[in-house]
Amino acid sequence: MSEQVSVCEYTPVDQSKSKWLNNILLPLVEACLFERKIEVTISPLHTGTFKCRGMSPRHQFRGSKPFIYLSVQYPFWRKAEIAYVYLHECAHKLIDIAEIKRKKYSRESHGPIFLLVEMVLFKRADQASNLEHKLFSKIDFYDFADKPHLTDEASEHEYIWRPLVLQFALSNYESLANSDLSAERIAEKAWDLWEDFRVDKIIIEKRKNKQVEQLNKKIEELEIYNQQLQELNSKIRRQLLVWTMLIFVLPLIGASAYLLSFLRAS
Ligand SMILES: [Zn+2]
Repeated sequence: MSEQVSVCEYTPVDQSKSKWLNNILLPLVEACLFERKIEVTISPLHTGTFKCRGMSPRHQFRGSKPFIYLSVQYPFWRKAEIAYVYLHECAHKLIDIAEIKRKKYSRESHGPIFLLVEMVLFKRADQASNLEHKLFSKIDFYDFADKPHLTDEASEHEYIWRPLVLQFALSNYESLANSDLSAERIAEKAWDLWEDFRVDKIIIEKRKNKQVEQLNKKIEELEIYNQQLQELNSKIRRQLLVWTMLIFVLPLIGASAYLLSFLRAS
């Protein structure tokens, strides 16, 4: 049998509780291809009135071992709930590990990188387990609640950045879930993919801005040209009037005058 997920409540828990939890967690851990099993500490968790179901203490390890908390209080002690909370917190911890390795830290906790990693873990777990409710269907707004750092002002709006984050995660999770990358490597890969996506977006944005700039310039030129055309048009009209006078009206006046003088003389 493979090594167990270590479970404790500040001191090691009794064998039956550990075994019961491991029956749920081990298949998930194996399906998600973790290199190192992330340990569990069962703890009373609260932040004020808000009851947490789980927590991944940022940049904290037990010795060198990664661990997360599961709440002892929250009434989540059902298989699917435990699976959801454990893998959700593991996604945080995997990103934590990747951050330390890269010496680069994300500003947001539930951002695009988190969403992608969580999707991959849930997808792998769903494929391997017989959970009544698929973990993937539990993903909601909370899982991408934080606005990512994007340089252009347009992305400040929620209706721009949320679809972008979804687009990023949805277009990448399946190929990553079906790859043979370990869960730790998935978190690193998610970082790279997000960096590329961001850069691509900035390039597209710049290109779009340049096109708009060129278009505005063309419109300006067209307006000037149109103005010149109108001036030319009115100049031609004036000249036409003069020529009409010269060709038709003046000879007519001359002829009339001549005719009048001729009639008077007779
Ligand atoms: Zn979370």
